[in-house]
Amino acid sequence: MPVLDSVESVEKELARCNLIYKSLDATSPFISAVHRVMNDYFQDRSTTTPVPPPAEIAARIRSGRSVVTEPAVETKQFVGLLDQIADEILAANAELDDTVKSFRDETARFLSASPAEIGVKDVLGFQRRLTREGSLENDLASFVLGSAFSAFVRHDLSALIDSVPTDLWEGGACPTCGTKPHFGLLRREDNAKILECWLCRTRFEHTRIKCPFCDNEDQAHMGFFTVEGSDACRVNFCRACSRYYKIFDLREFDADDGVNLTIHNLATLSYDVLARHEGFSPGSELEWVNTSELDNLEQEVG
Ligand SMILES: [Zn+2]
Ligand SMILES: [Zn+2]
Repeated sequence: MPVLDSVESVEKELARCNLIYKSLDATSPFISAVHRVMNDYFQDRSTTTPVPPPAEIAARIRSGRSVVTEPAVETKQFVGLLDQIADEILAANAELDDTVKSFRDETARFLSASPAEIGVKDVLGFQRRLTREGSLENDLASFVLGSAFSAFVRHDLSALIDSVPTDLWEGGACPTCGTKPHFGLLRREDNAKILECWLCRTRFEHTRIKCPFCDNEDQAHMGFFTVEGSDACRVNFCRACSRYYKIFDLREFDADDGVNLTIHNLATLSYDVLARHEGFSPGSELEWVNTSELDNLEQEVG
C-alpha cells in the first residue's frame, strides 16, 4: 500500500492549485523535491504499529477517545530525514547556504536536547525555536517539520488508519491520533463537512454547524469568509474560542480523481494571514503565518 504521496500526484495537485489559487508557482519545485526525498527515505522502511482488535478500537471510539494518543517518532530518525531534506534545499538553491547551516546547527541541538522519542508538542516547540532564532520562517518550518513528522506517523499507523470506524466518532479532533485539524472539505455530493487530520490524514465527518475546537453549536458565534473572486477556500471561524480552520469546497472545482488537501493548504496560506489579522488563531496550533507578512498586512490596511 503506498503510504506517502507520489511525486507525480503532488505535481498534479500543485498544477491544479496553481489554477485555482494562483499562488504556488515559485515554490512548486521545492514542494516536489521534499516529497521526492520522503519517498526515497521511506521506500525501505517496514516497521508499522500493530493494529488492536476491532472491538477494542470501536470501544475507544464510542467512548470519545482516539485510538492512539500523542503518536511518537524516534528523534534520531526524524532528524535524519530533516538532514536529507536540508541537502535537497541546498541542492535546489545554493544561495540558502547560511539558512541550511543554521538549520543543521539547530537540528543537532534539538537531537541532543530531546528524549529518544518525540511527539507533536516537541516538534511545535522546535519550530518556535527555529523561528525565534531566525533560522526559518513559519511557513517553511511548518512545511518541512510537519511533512516529515506526518510521513513517519502515516507510515507507522498505516495498518491502523483504514480500520478506524470514523462514523462512530463525534469529536472535532482526529479519531485515529487525537490531533486537532487545520483543514477539511465540503463533500460534493451532500455538502457534508469532512475534517482531515493534517498529521495522519484520517478523514471524518463533523457536524456542519459546530466548532471542532470548543464544541460550540451556536450559529451566531460562528461564520466563515472567502476571498473575493474565489469560493474554493473558506476560513471557518468561531467567536466563542477565537479559533479558525480552513474548508475546501469541492463543489468549486473538479476533484473527482481525489484531492490532496495538504497541497491546497500550502496554496492558501494567505488565508491564514487574513484569519490571523481578524484576530483568530489556528485551532490546530500549527503556526503557518510569517510575522513579517502579518506586519505587512497590518501596515497596508491599518
Ligand atoms: Zn490523525
Ligand atoms: Zn470554538
